[in-house]
Amino acid sequence: MQIDRALLDQSVAQAHAEAPNECCGIIAARDGQAVSVHPARNAAASPLRYEMDGMEQYRIQSAIEDAGHDLGAIYHSHTRTAPYPSQTDINLAFYPEALYVIVGVAGDRPDVRAFRIVDGEVSEQPLEVTSAGEARRGDERSEAE
Ligand SMILES: [Zn+2]
Repeated sequence: MQIDRALLDQSVAQAHAEAPNECCGIIAARDGQAVSVHPARNAAASPLRYEMDGMEQYRIQSAIEDAGHDLGAIYHSHTRTAPYPSQTDINLAFYPEALYVIVGVAGDRPDVRAFRIVDGEVSEQPLEVTSAGEARRGDERSEAE
């Protein structure tokens, strides 16, 4: 997935604001390009796990569908550990078609990684961070395909 730095920064800012608790939310995408970030409430309010508020998740997913966008990624933060899916994350990964983005803010600088989690198997996926200018050039599709 491609994501503009400004969008990525929104999730990093949320992670810092809600630390030490984990934060969570959804990233909408279109054609593999992130288009919007939707923060949600961590109903677990815990530094060790997240549980996206069910009503908010429903509302966000409806809004994304209405806009004709895809569920690009489900994100949450790790405030104490490396940005790699925990066993709990793996057990609760119910969307094999979505990316799982983990915003790591345990270290000196944010480390954001993306994974696919299918049947308990974790595979890291590329997360290409662009600036707004690069994203626009990408739209010209000169060598995109
Ligand atoms: Zn986690």
